[in-house]
Amino acid sequence: MSAGDWLDAFPGVRRHEPLARHSQFGVGGPAEWFITTRETGVLAELLRRCTDSRVPVTMIGAGSNTLISDDGIDGLVVRHDDRSLRVVDDHTVDLGAGCMMPRVALDCAARGLAGVEFGIGVPGTLGASVYGNAGAFGTEMAGVLIDCTSLDARGEPLSLAAAECDFSYRRSRFKDELRGNAIVSARLRVHADEPEHVRARTDAIQAERKATQPYGIRSLGSVFKNPPENKAGRLIEAADLKGRRSGGAQISPKHANFIVNVDHATAADVLTLVHIAHDSVQERFGIDLEREIIVLGKEAADDHRG
Ligand SMILES: Cc1cc2nc3c(=O)[nH]c(=O)nc-3n(C[C@H](O)[C@H](O)[C@H](O)COP(=O)(O)OP(=O)(O)OC[C@H]3O[C@@H](n4cnc5c(N)ncnc54)[C@H](O)[C@@H]3O)c2cc1C
Repeated sequence: MSAGDWLDAFPGVRRHEPLARHSQFGVGGPAEWFITTRETGVLAELLRRCTDSRVPVTMIGAGSNTLISDDGIDGLVVRHDDRSLRVVDDHTVDLGAGCMMPRVALDCAARGLAGVEFGIGVPGTLGASVYGNAGAFGTEMAGVLIDCTSLDARGEPLSLAAAECDFSYRRSRFKDELRGNAIVSARLRVHADEPEHVRARTDAIQAERKATQPYGIRSLGSVFKNPPENKAGRLIEAADLKGRRSGGAQISPKHANFIVNVDHATAADVLTLVHIAHDSVQERFGIDLEREIIVLGKEAADDHRG
């Protein structure tokens, strides 16, 4: 008997789901239990019952920023997949946490709503983008969020205004003291503009992204945060690591702050490169790069560097 046996009978829950299927990098062992749901009530019930039975819960979105352990993740992994988009007025859109940011950018552009064009460059969900204060091309979530609603470990709702989320560079309260809360929805601030003008700006961001970052190949986005007044990619390149391989993973020859999956990479291959890049930059330039990618599962517990 295990504490989570009741999950086997819970509608929609699957056992031993391969998480590589849910990772844009294509890597990750099995989830002990896994569910995709768009029902906030179902999520609330799962959170409460998992807390009562001491089953750990891990939220995932589109798996674009997470390196999932080759050994998988213990407990229940949940993808909250509410992709609803509702225009409240010319200044406000109300979104489910499962909305993909590029879709949000394109749908808003088509409706003549400006302000979220940066979303075209963030291939992840709204919920995770609030969690990590995602940003691109000069705008970040902190600048457009009005408020968001999450569920705590007992499934109770908590609504926070943007100012209460303690946003900073790729950080929010959800990464520390509210770790364990599941973000279910958010309202973003927009403003009216000509649809073709908004679309032209999203297209320009997309073109810049294609020109400067690996495109059409599996990656995890930026591996390290940019240190103050510097660029992680420039430092890794200056440490002569562009193109460096470990197993099936490679430091992108196009942009050194990206690791790409060139040939059936494992999470261990990626972590080897992460450590090489971190330690080389530390030795050569005395800069302690902080990891931007999130490691989930066994390696997260074993690995504290970078
Ligand atoms: C090619 C590429 C380019 C990228 N460019 C950018 C960029 O320009 N700017 C940028 O900021 N990021 C960028 N990223 C990284 C990534 O897209 C963002 O961090 C995005 O916000 C992650 O969304 P996700 O749904 O994929 O999250 P996941 O990778 O699935 O999860 C990320 C974290 O969020 C947590 N989480 C997921 N859903 C929830 C929820 N509902 N409630 C609470 N916690 C949750 C997870 O537990 C995990 O810790 C890029 C990634 C790639 C692959």
